[in-house]
Amino acid sequence: MTVIEIDHSRTRSTQGQDKQGLNKQSPNKQSPNKPSLNKPRLNKAGAKGLARVVPQSVSGPMRRIKWAILVLTLSIYYVTPFLRWDRGPNAPGQAVLLDFAHGRLYAFFIEIWPQDLYLVTGLLILASVILILANAFAGRVWCGFACPQTVWTDLFLLVERLIEGDRRQRLKNMETPLNAMRVVQIGAKHAAWILISLATGGTLIFYFTDAPALVRALATGEASTTALTWIAVFAGTTYGLAGFAREQVCTFMCPWPRLQGAIWDPEAFTVNYRDYRGEQRMSAKKAVEVRARGERAGDCVDCGLCVNVCPIGIDIREGPNFACINCGLCVDACDGVMTRLGRPRGLIDYESWDNIERGRRDEARVSRLLRPKTVALTAITVGLAAGLAVLLATKSTGAIAVLHDRDPLAVTLSDGSVRNAYTVKLLNKAAVPRHYTLAIQGIDASMTIVGNDDGSPITVEADGSESLRVTLTMAVPKDANVVFIARDETGRTVLSASDRFVAR
Ligand code: SF4
Ligand code: SF4
Repeated sequence: MTVIEIDHSRTRSTQGQDKQGLNKQSPNKQSPNKPSLNKPRLNKAGAKGLARVVPQSVSGPMRRIKWAILVLTLSIYYVTPFLRWDRGPNAPGQAVLLDFAHGRLYAFFIEIWPQDLYLVTGLLILASVILILANAFAGRVWCGFACPQTVWTDLFLLVERLIEGDRRQRLKNMETPLNAMRVVQIGAKHAAWILISLATGGTLIFYFTDAPALVRALATGEASTTALTWIAVFAGTTYGLAGFAREQVCTFMCPWPRLQGAIWDPEAFTVNYRDYRGEQRMSAKKAVEVRARGERAGDCVDCGLCVNVCPIGIDIREGPNFACINCGLCVDACDGVMTRLGRPRGLIDYESWDNIERGRRDEARVSRLLRPKTVALTAITVGLAAGLAVLLATKSTGAIAVLHDRDPLAVTLSDGSVRNAYTVKLLNKAAVPRHYTLAIQGIDASMTIVGNDDGSPITVEADGSESLRVTLTMAVPKDANVVFIARDETGRTVLSASDRFVAR
């Protein structure tokens, strides 16, 4: 059950007064079109000079969604390296593998060679557009629900609460001298954090090598120093970021809040406070008296719970804040308070800033999910995804590259004919050997493959390449484009590359 803790250090009768002087703006005084995005303010722990925000636990729909996403994303992260995928005898059997040693990225049926890095670039662009689209719909919703920093911080906070108690107890602990019980609690918490960090760092390394083999090597003490070093580096990063840096990462290290000034959208459904409903703040008892006299009383009872549960330490009642990660925990907190007071939910809600301003003017709210920006971004997302899908589906399992000899470019033979020489490289990205036949188009010349006088098919081993020395001789020489064509034995893979024949 959620406990309403009155934070008297924050109680005040009017808006816009910040005792720490961090936030000078009241939503009512902000520009009617676009509010300034406020600096984060500190909650009670910060106000007491303590280094970190001490968020209180809360229950509600948003918290449940966040738990579900946490379980799902962590399960995917920890399990994926152990999934197997049969690619044939000559390829690794790990479903997702970043095989930097051989220059390959594997993701289930997808295999990316260095020549296919445009696909990775395309995927990164697609991910960026999806992030911008999500921002147009609901602000930093990725940050609040699925960002690894949020997920691991939530996990670390859960451990902290289970061992040291909820916010009130932890604040009390901070103000009391160390005793034996506290030393045990602190030791247990850090031991649990270190175990999670080691599991996280270890799992990340599993994506770069055969996971079961590395598990065996770790269990038998045969893991390489390189692997152990990287596990330590990633474990230390997890421990530092999720255990100590927490909201500092979301506020100061992540570039997303820096972009908020440019991409903040007043029509996006971000977490906002309905100040036209919540003000003037007063105690629940006084509000009942005021309403009994037929006068209007604000719904906010200034309990401070929305601030206490915030993992960033923000008071969302002061207006949109660039550091707000849209996690909705303050929505859960305030909805719980409103329910217990018998008032309508939604005093803090996922609501567009435009609708907050409409509410202030007593106008009906408008939901504009479909607007030029969201339609255009959705179209770009779908177009990019479709384009990438086509590129992946039609991706060749072979490649050809032609390099013209530069010195000399052309050799004139005694009979007056001219010879050009090339290096032709054939790549076989398939899991089975391929046999290619090479031909030319575009010029009337005779082709010779050095070491292959009988013109038999050229074998390229599975996941391998073959370099050929090729000469073209023209009896009646002239400058012209030439196309090299390689066909595999099935005839389905046809590779081609253009170059130039020069007469002199
Ligand atoms: S907005 Fe809601 S949770 Fe926040 S102080 Fe007011 S009543 Fe409490
Ligand atoms: S203000 Fe609310 S939505 Fe924003 S970070 Fe804090 S708890 Fe999450």
